[in-house]
Amino acid sequence: MSAQITHFECGTPSEMDMERLMANLEAASTLEARSGTQYLPVTMTLIANDDGSGLITEESALNGFCRLNENFEDLGIQFYLYDGFRYVYDSDFYLINGPGSQNPVSLKVPNTINIFVSEVFTQGAQGSCSGILGFYSPANDYVAIDKCTMDGASFALTHELGHFFSLPHTFFGWENQNYNPSQPTPEFVDGVRVEYADESNCSISADRICDTPPDYNFGLGAGGCNYTGGAVDPAGNAVDPDEMNYMGYFFNCPSHNFSPNQGDVIYADIADRTFVSGSPTTVAVNGAANLTYPIGGEITPNTDVILTWDAADGATSYLIELNRIASFSPSFVVQRTVVNTNSLALENLLPNTNYHWRVRPFNDTYTCTDYGEGTAFKTGELVNVVQIEGVESLNIYPNPSNGAENIFMEVNTSEPLEAEIKLYNTQGKLVQVLNHQFNSGANSVNIKTESLPQGAYIIGIQTENGTAHQRIFITR
Ligand SMILES: [Zn+2]
Repeated sequence: MSAQITHFECGTPSEMDMERLMANLEAASTLEARSGTQYLPVTMTLIANDDGSGLITEESALNGFCRLNENFEDLGIQFYLYDGFRYVYDSDFYLINGPGSQNPVSLKVPNTINIFVSEVFTQGAQGSCSGILGFYSPANDYVAIDKCTMDGASFALTHELGHFFSLPHTFFGWENQNYNPSQPTPEFVDGVRVEYADESNCSISADRICDTPPDYNFGLGAGGCNYTGGAVDPAGNAVDPDEMNYMGYFFNCPSHNFSPNQGDVIYADIADRTFVSGSPTTVAVNGAANLTYPIGGEITPNTDVILTWDAADGATSYLIELNRIASFSPSFVVQRTVVNTNSLALENLLPNTNYHWRVRPFNDTYTCTDYGEGTAFKTGELVNVVQIEGVESLNIYPNPSNGAENIFMEVNTSEPLEAEIKLYNTQGKLVQVLNHQFNSGANSVNIKTESLPQGAYIIGIQTENGTAHQRIFITR
């Protein structure tokens, strides 16, 4: 977890759609009792610059999505990634709301909840993770969130989803006004009726929601989770805000919640929307993926390596990290890739180099996982046959082989050589090992193929003078 965000501001415009809220409040009063879990499709679009810079790490995206689902669990609402993560590499969209930026509304996937993740423009505070870090656009019905809030600790995304479901701030009206204790509390602020402490005007004031007490934006800049400022309402009665409400600005509370009436508004809003029908995964991911190849520092036959692992219980997707060092320091990441299979082909690695890799399983709903333990491998030397001192020629035949007959390897050497001959499949798995003593002159080695499935194989010849590889094919 990174440090708490100390100065989050929400950029949701104050012209929230109050008509929609009022309709949802009305519908909420007649909603039937709910049971079970409702799964809602999310399109999470990760936006990068043209050159790929600025992209949120998948790690953070998974952590942020995990937190969102944890926060909505009590309401019986879970979000699922409708089509995995969606990537947009376009600098015109990167700085959301920035000068000259394109409106991401054109990127929306209809009938899903659209969340755009990159950087949200803040005057004078770019890259600092303070100021305006997210907003809901009532006009275009999408949520934008700054990647720096997606740390698994901030509730900024949950707050913006609250707006998506038509909830105003608990301090609605006070977005751009400071409460002034030395002045009488006004009846209206920015044209919005100020809420009384005794609930007498709760349905026509502030956020219109009666079980959220008055809040005159006391949270902004507050250090703790207990307001003791002594503010009074327009009638002179003391106000006591709900510091732990997601729609307020108290960031230092141990936990947050939606009020029961806010929950009802959310249900009513969902009932009034049309979502695509999908097939979300409804089970949690249990345990780690068992890494199978290459592991334990073994040397791979060449620089094209296929990582393989066994499925983790409940997982449908995997985030794979390839790193140069065992601590998996972010500074030494070679690549991070998401796949929906149990293998990942790596190409053009450096020869004679150590690599470390680890896998984080997840599915479209459950992303509250971590990387499993990492393992390591070393790529082989890239050496041509003729570069192995003492080997003058190498001939493998028949190649391709029909598999019915054995393959022969003819090697001419100028000196006796102790050799280990290894046969790998394209998964990189060792399928056969032969130890062979080459005599000076012509040698023939018989490689049995009858039990091998058809496909491509790599023959590796390892001698004290170097290693060489050659590709063979078996076709049946
Ligand atoms: Zn807000």
